[in-house]
Amino acid sequence: MTETQTKRSNGATLQAHYNFSAIRDHLQALNRRLVDLLGDDYAIELDDPQQFTHEGETFIRYKIRCVYYTHNGDHYDHDPSGWIAVSQSDSNRLISGCWVCKRPQVIKRPDGFQPAPTLLTLSCNDPHLLKVLVAFDCKEVNEVNGRDQIAVAFPVTYADDGSQGFHYRVALEGKGKWLHQKDGKASEAVFALHNQGIQQGIQKKRMVVVTESPVDAATLIAAGFPAIAVLGKGNADALACDQHRKTLLNLLGDAGVVYVWVEPDAKDFTQKVANALQRPVKVITPPVPEEDPKALKDAKRLWVNYCGKDWEKFKAVINELLQNATEIAPQPEPVYKPKIVRVRRPFEEAV
Ligand SMILES: [Zn+2]
Repeated sequence: MTETQTKRSNGATLQAHYNFSAIRDHLQALNRRLVDLLGDDYAIELDDPQQFTHEGETFIRYKIRCVYYTHNGDHYDHDPSGWIAVSQSDSNRLISGCWVCKRPQVIKRPDGFQPAPTLLTLSCNDPHLLKVLVAFDCKEVNEVNGRDQIAVAFPVTYADDGSQGFHYRVALEGKGKWLHQKDGKASEAVFALHNQGIQQGIQKKRMVVVTESPVDAATLIAAGFPAIAVLGKGNADALACDQHRKTLLNLLGDAGVVYVWVEPDAKDFTQKVANALQRPVKVITPPVPEEDPKALKDAKRLWVNYCGKDWEKFKAVINELLQNATEIAPQPEPVYKPKIVRVRRPFEEAV
């Protein structure tokens, strides 16, 4: 029955059909994203809509395999107990949950709905990457800094006494996808450097890749490259902290090489790392496709968007990037010069 025919026969039915069709469109994008991330197994069961009422509002609900690694001990929701539901009212409100672990499958962000950040979604359901995240004690949590919030907590080490904190991935994509632990010093934190396995890797291979995100470091580690991360491009100075700097330089020895992954929007990151370590570093420059300059900017995107999540291909690409890396030397601290200029200017102008 077409919509026009429905309208002629029954206005109320049209309303139901119209919304139903809108809901399907609404969910198609989310469905594609889930299948892209996790595989066909995680498709929303769009052909089995069910009506239900929640707080007096009528919804159409669809089953989905729960997207949490910690859903159960098998880390797999055998008989799908997750659900996504869209309101039948004009609001088109979307809610989601799981009958077993009670957590949302989808979160709302300023730029729309996206799958919840979980160990499964962050790792793209890839066994290698998942294994690394679990080995590094990354955890699915329901609370961030005292607020209800779904996140994956990445443990980090501060510079003072080696105390631990957490950096929280609160969304898969978009701005503001990381939050740091309240009162934690993000500017002094590193990810992975104080892990025993990574230390052995750095020592054995005499190299390390410094990235600006724990997820990128984890992706490189999953491919067999010792990698560490500071928390964002503005926090390269964390590596200047005595404890981190000495640890890294001791592991590398005189012959070891520090590679720095430089994203197109953070060109001075390499120089900052070189300055922080007071040691020459080599710059890894990822390809920048004209049609989408950000598509391959970090290790995770390169693995997904360029290598189709193929680890062998990714290893070959990274090895090529390492071979083509160019060296830059540390500069003396440039901080004081502008300050002197600013102090002098009023006097010069007065004269
Ligand atoms: Zn669940």
